[in-house]
Amino acid sequence: MTTAPLDHQTVPTHWTHRHLLDLERLTPTEVRTLLDTATLFKEATGGCRRKLGVLAGKTIVTLFFENSTRTKTSFALAARRLGADVVDFSASSSSLSKGESFIDTAKNLEAMGIDAVVVRHVTPGTPHLLAQHLDVGVINAGDGPHEHPTQGLLDIFTIRERLGDLSGATVGLVGDIAHSRTARSNLWGLMKLGAKVILCGPPTLVSDRWRELGVEVSHDLDAIVPRCDVLNLLRIQFERQNTRPFPSVREYAHLYAMTRDRLKRAKKDLLILAPGPINRGVEVTAEVADCPQSLILGQVANGLAVRMAVLWLTCGPRAGADGPSPGTKVY
Ligand code: ASP
Repeated sequence: MTTAPLDHQTVPTHWTHRHLLDLERLTPTEVRTLLDTATLFKEATGGCRRKLGVLAGKTIVTLFFENSTRTKTSFALAARRLGADVVDFSASSSSLSKGESFIDTAKNLEAMGIDAVVVRHVTPGTPHLLAQHLDVGVINAGDGPHEHPTQGLLDIFTIRERLGDLSGATVGLVGDIAHSRTARSNLWGLMKLGAKVILCGPPTLVSDRWRELGVEVSHDLDAIVPRCDVLNLLRIQFERQNTRPFPSVREYAHLYAMTRDRLKRAKKDLLILAPGPINRGVEVTAEVADCPQSLILGQVANGLAVRMAVLWLTCGPRAGADGPSPGTKVY
């Protein structure tokens, strides 16, 4: 474990949140604080590889009611690399199956002296509900199609590392906007940092009503590719759809997959992102997923830095207090 200046640092006084529930309600300054803190942790840990002790003595519980490959592991590793203990709650072998309510279960976990809960649930608003009932920090790791704030932050962090200032950058979010929590968190975060956002996909998955938020809506990927500095290629969320929003996956891929041909018509330094899991041949071809402009694995690596920042800001040491003060905002 290394000793770094961060070991003795307290959470900035302007960060007043106990929870991270969404990006929609954060201010641009708060989004920047999260990203700047992630940069600090990435540097202080030699690219998130070395350990720090800034959360020693803290216990983080991961409470996942939906599958996860990257997010759960990334939160667990981030917490351990900051010196915290991590407990994974397994919903299927818990008393929830004996009829205990979700809130009672969470309150029982809280009574054991934990410091934060990282929750993923199929129902939008679940983390917000938990935050109303718990005194410990609640971090949203994905609530149905609503938001996935750490995914949005790590995508934006990855773009910012390459482009610096985001104001004036054009970012295309392509795919299943209707069911994608990643799209929503990206959209809020990017807009707050002054980026131009284009939502692109079939009309059944990208409503024109998004324009009311001040973003551009397009149903023609070929038309937007040459204008974009970044393309974030989102998976079709088949598991959230009751009916097929397009005739066939083949037709979708023909119109909306990022292919080598489309790449030829893009800006030379276009950045390719995808939140993962990627479905090669559907939203992106294998060649593009693995091309030099693809930052897909870099996003995963940056997820650690972002989650370190989120864990530290929500349950790290505060000046003059051992934890968030009662007056802190509850979102
Ligand atoms: N991993 C991201 C999420 O949990 C994106 C996806 O599943 O398509 O939302």
